[in-house]
Amino acid sequence: MPLSHYACANCGFWQLHFATPPDCPVCTDVRNDLPEDGWHFLPEAEIAATHGGTFRSIADDLWAFTTTPNLGLAGTGWLIVRDGGNIAFEAAPYYSFQMLEQLRALGGIRFLAASHAHGYGALFQLQREFAPELLAIQREDLGMTKALRVTAPYDDTLELAPGYTLHLVGGHYAGQAVLHDAPGRRLFCGDVFKIDQDDTGRSQAISSHKAFHKDIPLTHAELSRYREVIAPLDFDAVLTPFEYAPEIGRDTALRALDDALSRPPGVRRMPL
Ligand SMILES: [Zn+2]
Ligand SMILES: [Zn+2]
Repeated sequence: MPLSHYACANCGFWQLHFATPPDCPVCTDVRNDLPEDGWHFLPEAEIAATHGGTFRSIADDLWAFTTTPNLGLAGTGWLIVRDGGNIAFEAAPYYSFQMLEQLRALGGIRFLAASHAHGYGALFQLQREFAPELLAIQREDLGMTKALRVTAPYDDTLELAPGYTLHLVGGHYAGQAVLHDAPGRRLFCGDVFKIDQDDTGRSQAISSHKAFHKDIPLTHAELSRYREVIAPLDFDAVLTPFEYAPEIGRDTALRALDDALSRPPGVRRMPL
């Protein structure tokens, strides 16, 4: 049996396997729920035949790619367009032909990275299509990258390009990293924050979690580390693998962490 890619129908995590995978490492982990009705893995050809997608410009230098209908956790793939080579951070669950054509029209991908497994989406597809010179994942999370070829594991920080730096924050996942976009004054924060938004995309509340589905809180040491890493970074907006929150700058982000640090561990959605 040749190796091929399979997506978990429950969370969208891709695995490279010679047969239908026995289980999904994202769903068996405490940070995600198990499927209610057993495993269901979808071969890539089936996803390609049943899924399309959309893309939109958020700013002159920033694009968002989403898969339709939703697949798994339904994350967003971000593309930073810049002279000297584009950066893709996180990935959509799958890229249709049109989405790939748009990526090509925007100049392709030179640098590829993701915060942690919930943002991986179809990184494998972006690596296959664009052969970026660098695919960076923090070393603690390498165990989740069997479907990829990580070319740049790193320790605490990695500058992808001048002004665009990955910082290890841990917490939610041991190898979770954020991408600070200094020129755009943005923080691609992974699941450091969960932003509750209304139907129009306006942010309503902010919180931090070890595990979102089960509302497992982070410890004070984990929250303190988030704070320590984020406090020196200038930003006016945060982007999770799921939400774009232009209302949340550094002050609001730090206020949310300080709120969580001021009481015993527990998840509280701080209203904005
Ligand atoms: Zn899964
Ligand atoms: Zn996550």
